[in-house]
Amino acid sequence: MKRLKIKEVLTNGKTETQTLVKGWVRTKRGSKNVNFIALNDGSTIHNLQVVADVAKFDEQLLHEINTGASLAVEGTLSKSQGSGQNVELLAEKIELLGKADPDKYPIQPKKHTLEFLRENAHLRFRTNTFGAVFRIRHAMAFAIHKYFNKKGFYYLHTPIITASDAEGAGQMFRVSTLDAVNPPLTEEGKPDFSKDFFGRPTNLTVSGQLEGELGALALGEIYTFGPTFRAENSNTTRHLAEFWMIEPEMAFYDLKDNMDLAEEFLKYLISYALEYCSDDLYFLADRLKQEEKGKPQDQRSMDLVEKLQFVLNSSFVRLTYTEAIDILKNSKPFKKNKFQFPVDWGIDLQSEHERYLVEKHFKCPVILTDYPRDIKAFYMKQNDDGKTVRAMDVLFPQIGEIIGGSQREESLEKLETRMKEMNVPAEEMWWYLDTRRFGSVVHSGFGLGFERFILFVTGMGNIRDVIAFPRTPKNAEF
Ligand code: ATP
Ligand code: MG
Ligand code: MG
Ligand code: MG
Repeated sequence: MKRLKIKEVLTNGKTETQTLVKGWVRTKRGSKNVNFIALNDGSTIHNLQVVADVAKFDEQLLHEINTGASLAVEGTLSKSQGSGQNVELLAEKIELLGKADPDKYPIQPKKHTLEFLRENAHLRFRTNTFGAVFRIRHAMAFAIHKYFNKKGFYYLHTPIITASDAEGAGQMFRVSTLDAVNPPLTEEGKPDFSKDFFGRPTNLTVSGQLEGELGALALGEIYTFGPTFRAENSNTTRHLAEFWMIEPEMAFYDLKDNMDLAEEFLKYLISYALEYCSDDLYFLADRLKQEEKGKPQDQRSMDLVEKLQFVLNSSFVRLTYTEAIDILKNSKPFKKNKFQFPVDWGIDLQSEHERYLVEKHFKCPVILTDYPRDIKAFYMKQNDDGKTVRAMDVLFPQIGEIIGGSQREESLEKLETRMKEMNVPAEEMWWYLDTRRFGSVVHSGFGLGFERFILFVTGMGNIRDVIAFPRTPKNAEF
């Protein structure tokens, strides 16, 4: 008999039909005469209720059906008596596929803390919360490809191992086959990278942008979607050492076109989530409500689904960095010394500043443009004021910066001068400069942090809880 997925059974299952399902036991309740087994196979947040008549089954078998055990169950579907679902499965055959010792299995039906589940990250997929998060993450990845494909963007695979540091922030992980303890040395006593695998120092990519620009200035519109790596020293709830980034890069787009695309793209993803992930979203919304029950009313967050609808229906406010600094300096937290980091023109905004602008001042997503050039990368288009660049950051409630982007400097001369000023090795980047040397055009792009976006959509609070295998300082267990 062909196995059906539980989602299929719960949405289309007809009563009286013979059905086979397989999955993992979430809970078992029992009376003298019947056992009710909640079975889940990952296809949906909902469990299928399996009803087992005690008289029909071996006592030992029923005894071994515990939370976490895997089962194959065959039976007839019947109208549900009250499990909250339309149908339940009256078991005729139960096969215990894999036992789970209740004294040793870590994931019990009681509510575990997210910290506990992080320590048991290998099994946390089996909880409702993480099932919902990873189904939504999957749907969002699919929607990203769907969106760009529809718009005629090409999916470009930029390299994981690179020789350049796109951001110049010194957060690179070295890639080397040299002996780490006793590397071959040059005459000056430095590691001899000419003996390394690539004959030069290489690292894991921090961004696919520079290579993405090469693609865009020939194919027109491209996007990358892959893992990026940054040796982030701080332990925040918004930074990972390995995270996924979506980086569209477009020829003939100026900063306004870039902002329009970012806003449309984010809204597309949110509307996709609302349409196709509603069961999981409602579950997470409810979970958040339970979690915040003890908090005073004004400290509780907005209902998750309402929050998504709200962002979907809002027009993102657009203003310059300089205007934002003025707003911050006139704000209550600034005047009362409540910001942890002081505000002055020239600082890189911290998430507390970004969240103030979004959550307290404008009460909607914000796109900040024209940042001081000294806090931004070398490739951004310089404004005529000699102080700012055509950068844009999209700031979201709960998150702060979710997108960083810019119009790129298309003038060879200006780019070369800026690289010199910032000690970017122009000789090594001859291939990048060739795009400005031959057929240079106005172009723009941005990077969306995939996990930051998933944080927003799921309402989760810690970036470690929206990626399957988080990589953070001192944490790479498996
Ligand atoms: P932040 O200021 O938060 O450190 P950034 O300005 O260094 O971010 P960008 O270089 O602009 O980041 O990268 C583009 C996007 O990638 C960011 O807007 C953010 O969404 C995401 N991102 C950057 N660093 C990380 C990280 N360590 N972990 C997860 N996402 C990140
Ligand atoms: Mg950073
Ligand atoms: Mg930033
Ligand atoms: Mg940025």
